Amino acid sequence: MMSCIFCQIANQEIKAELTYQDHLVVAFKDLAPQAPVHQLIIPRLHIKTLNDLKQEESSLIGHMVYIAQQLASENKLTDRGYRIVSNCNSEGGQNVFHIHLHLLGGRQMNWPPG
Ligand code: AMP
Repeated sequence: MMSCIFCQIANQEIKAELTYQDHLVVAFKDLAPQAPVHQLIIPRLHIKTLNDLKQEESSLIGHMVYIAQQLASENKLTDRGYRIVSNCNSEGGQNVFHIHLHLLGGRQMNWPPG
């Protein structure tokens, strides 16, 4: 899906500060960080929203969470704690329509998130 900015990042057609990649997922620093650590973990496969995730693709999410855990560890967040967020559609606050996990950390998170 060439018009998708996250597909373009995954294909290295536009620049991002990559922090991890393998054959399934890519992680990179968020352009507008909301915390000292703010990274996005995306699948290489273009999936528009969580609503579009098929059962046979669902193991991807486990891999994305595991990579988020590894990146949290790399950023010394394991003991301090961190937050993993995924927004879905308009009221969920989704702006980029290629599923992604936000890894946020390095400051106290609030609840409810607003
Ligand atoms: P969401 O609002 O959940 O869809 O999250 C989209 C996120 O992508 C936001 O936090 C944006 O700051 C981030 N973002 C958008 N474009 C880029 C980009 N080119 N490089 C890095 N992060 C981006």
